[in-house]
Amino acid sequence: MIDLGQFTDEVRTFISENLTPELKRAGELCAGIYADQPVALEWHRILHKQGWSVPAWPEEHGGTNWNLEQHAIFQRELILASAPTITPNATRMVGPVVIAFGTDEQKAQYLPRIRSGDDWWAQGYSEPGSGSDLASLQCKAVREGDHYIINGTKIWTTHAQWSNKIFCLVRTDNSGKQQQGITFLLFDIDLPGIEIRPLISISGDHEFNQVFFENVRVPVAGLLGEENDGWTVAKYLLQHERSGSYAPGLKTRIELLKNFAAQEGNGGPQPLMDDADFARKIAAAEIDLSVMESFEQKIFSAVNNGETVGAISSAIKVRGTEMRQRVTELVIEAVGYYGLPYQPEARAFETNTAPIGSTLAATALPQYLNDRAATIYAGSNEIQRNIMTKAVLGL
Ligand SMILES: Cc1cc2nc3c(=O)[nH]c(=O)nc-3n(C[C@H](O)[C@H](O)[C@H](O)COP(=O)(O)OP(=O)(O)OC[C@H]3O[C@@H](n4cnc5c(N)ncnc54)[C@H](O)[C@@H]3O)c2cc1C
Repeated sequence: MIDLGQFTDEVRTFISENLTPELKRAGELCAGIYADQPVALEWHRILHKQGWSVPAWPEEHGGTNWNLEQHAIFQRELILASAPTITPNATRMVGPVVIAFGTDEQKAQYLPRIRSGDDWWAQGYSEPGSGSDLASLQCKAVREGDHYIINGTKIWTTHAQWSNKIFCLVRTDNSGKQQQGITFLLFDIDLPGIEIRPLISISGDHEFNQVFFENVRVPVAGLLGEENDGWTVAKYLLQHERSGSYAPGLKTRIELLKNFAAQEGNGGPQPLMDDADFARKIAAAEIDLSVMESFEQKIFSAVNNGETVGAISSAIKVRGTEMRQRVTELVIEAVGYYGLPYQPEARAFETNTAPIGSTLAATALPQYLNDRAATIYAGSNEIQRNIMTKAVLGL
């Protein structure tokens, strides 16, 4: 029987001894979904040294053999400490599919370098016109001897500018059902014929890109699973993308917000928390958050007992992302005009520029703008609602 209290202490001690002030500051000032790669990589390497960079992988591939409670504790403690959030592309997306579908050579080639952070991966799924309806994708791959020749484009490719590898869904056959002619490929992102163009988000941040492929020669050795059966691999991967919990991050953010509002008045003489209307909004958000948290724990315990959770995970995705957006709106209300200065230099890694008006103020507007995307990525909320209407209401 594992002593969870002792495990929590062990995680806390590790974090307090290893999360440097610079990394913690970068975690607090991150306005995007994931930390920029230089920050994330530094933290990933520290976790790797401890043997915790891929905790959910099987032990034989460098995982931890923790139970589900231990994983939840680890995630919660990282969030509560404001550790940088690392993109899941390598450790929680392509890693698990290589473990499940890869050949022994592919496992030996890719897994150790994901674990150590030597390879950084981008996800090439979406295309212009193929997002929710992913199976309609058209980026084409034609087999020519030992290579696939790729032509087409991928869009919204998060952190492609920092990646040296990409996993891509490509169209290898058009004759049958849409899902049947898709193939899953792994390759270097700097091959001749690949061009990465930045897409700057409304907050001014560079998180994602459009990637163009013109007669790119990809070695057949990068084929994961069977040709034309990439949809099976893709679906397996999406299960990993959509796991995770919202409550710890939201709780941390509301705490920061309450501390700020207890001191600042948003132009008025009294702290904002003394304003009955604002205090009521905070209380309502906290109540909804605690309901969501109990739902998350219910799911967590169901998974722990080996039960299938079905459409409840869609409900959590909808609730969690809507709550995120609501909290960003409250933060904007609290910081008032302190939220107006555009200060990317204060949010940069290893800078000595202090944020104007507090950490919360420096991230308020970019986080508000970035979080509009939360109801779109990882399966849009409309799609999640469709899933619920079918699975729960039987419509
Ligand atoms: C921040 C961010 C990061 C991303 N990173 C990546 C990445 O790294 N790699 C990658 O491959 N992709 C990435 N994506 C893309 C993401 O997966 C897609 O944006 C998402 O799947 C939605 O697809 P779309 O943008 O084409 O919108 P569409 O599918 O065109 O949808 C447009 C609107 O129509 C609604 N809609 C669509 N179909 C239905 C329906 N059947 N019923 C009801 N409403 C519907 C949608 O909910 C949405 O509101 C990212 C997106 C964002 C926002």
